[in-house]
Amino acid sequence: MTINDTMLNQVLADHGFDVGTTTFMPMVTASLRLGDEWRIQGHSKGSGPEWDSFDFGLVPVNDARGGKKGTVHRCLSEAALRSHLSGIIDSLRDLTSTPDKLRCPKCGVRWVHMKEPGATGRQWPPFLSCDGMQIVRKSVEGTRIKEPACDGTRRDLPALIKYP
Ligand SMILES: [Zn+2]
Repeated sequence: MTINDTMLNQVLADHGFDVGTTTFMPMVTASLRLGDEWRIQGHSKGSGPEWDSFDFGLVPVNDARGGKKGTVHRCLSEAALRSHLSGIIDSLRDLTSTPDKLRCPKCGVRWVHMKEPGATGRQWPPFLSCDGMQIVRKSVEGTRIKEPACDGTRRDLPALIKYP
């Protein structure tokens, strides 16, 4: 199953998304503003004009570099996109009314983002990881060590929902 480029652009526009492309890699991008704090961001995966899938997730308006936060919704076919896009928008809009659900339960300050295994190699279930899951240099009792800024995970929110 694939998603045709022309159909993709049409459905996204019909649902109010600003549709664009990136110059550095072949990809269709989509953006839909939800109030002052959040927007839905989408991007295609695979290669056009028959894309493998299209992902949707929330991005803070003031932190576009950091990528999608919380649950990622992935449409794997044109039928899925047509049937589920309205529901996906509603679900993500609901989530913006309780933004604390998108924060890391361990540090309480950073957002969580979806992590999934690569197409090859060891496989594991996708999960929501704290944005602080990156190695930083720290000084602990005078000794310099390297460890994650925060290794929190969120388990009460789905990490990845696929629509076949
Ligand atoms: Zn954290």
